[in-house]
Amino acid sequence: MSPAKKIIIAIDGYASTGKSTLAKSLAGKLGYGYIDTGAMYRATTLFFQRHKVDFDDLAAIQKSIYSIKIQFRPSEFGNRTFLNGEDVEEEIRTMKVSEKVSEVAAIPLVRRSMVAQQQEMGTERGIVMDGRDIGTVVFRDAELKLFLTANPMVRLKRRFDELTAKGHQINEEEVKHNLEHRDHIDSTRDDSPLRKAEDAIELDNSELTPEEQLEIALRYAKQRIGSN
Ligand code: C5P
Repeated sequence: MSPAKKIIIAIDGYASTGKSTLAKSLAGKLGYGYIDTGAMYRATTLFFQRHKVDFDDLAAIQKSIYSIKIQFRPSEFGNRTFLNGEDVEEEIRTMKVSEKVSEVAAIPLVRRSMVAQQQEMGTERGIVMDGRDIGTVVFRDAELKLFLTANPMVRLKRRFDELTAKGHQINEEEVKHNLEHRDHIDSTRDDSPLRKAEDAIELDNSELTPEEQLEIALRYAKQRIGSN
């Protein structure tokens, strides 16, 4: 029996549509790696904020972008994001970073560097990657592309519950504003705007439990992997 074919699964969509929940469980079921590309843009934003890099100063960005090393390391509770060797998993999820990440992610120099690293991570295939441009730019040849959607109220509730469960002091209005703000910048930027790839399967999970969503995605993945 030949070893199972390994594929790339690209999961894109607007903020808080459940991409990472699905990507993580799908990767777990298939024994694949999981890459949260949003965490990479968040870690880069944190680096710029800490080093007071002006987002309009392209020379400063060019100079610092190659000193940013992002890694994912597994832990008991899933992958954690490391920025130059420091665990920044909690800090990159704060509002301070969320408020600025889409501005940083719209900078072509930043995208070029992130995309190159993401492509490198997928050279051996066998990964699930979630983000905004995975199916349209990073892995146009991904064997399975999913584009997640959910209605705005569901997304807001999920995001709010997720943040408050982690102990963030935040109000719903602030979360709503941040989701709308990021979606707007992400879908209107010149470089790699968020959009559904032509060959992506759209999945509205507003009414689905995480388990139901996983089951649907797994079915597609297994079709692509083939039975051997
Ligand atoms: O996935 P998450 O919501 O954590 O992503 C944070 C931000 O990073 C997004 O709002 C978007 O601006 C940016 N991003 C991106 N391209 C990706 C992943 C994330 O522009 N592939």
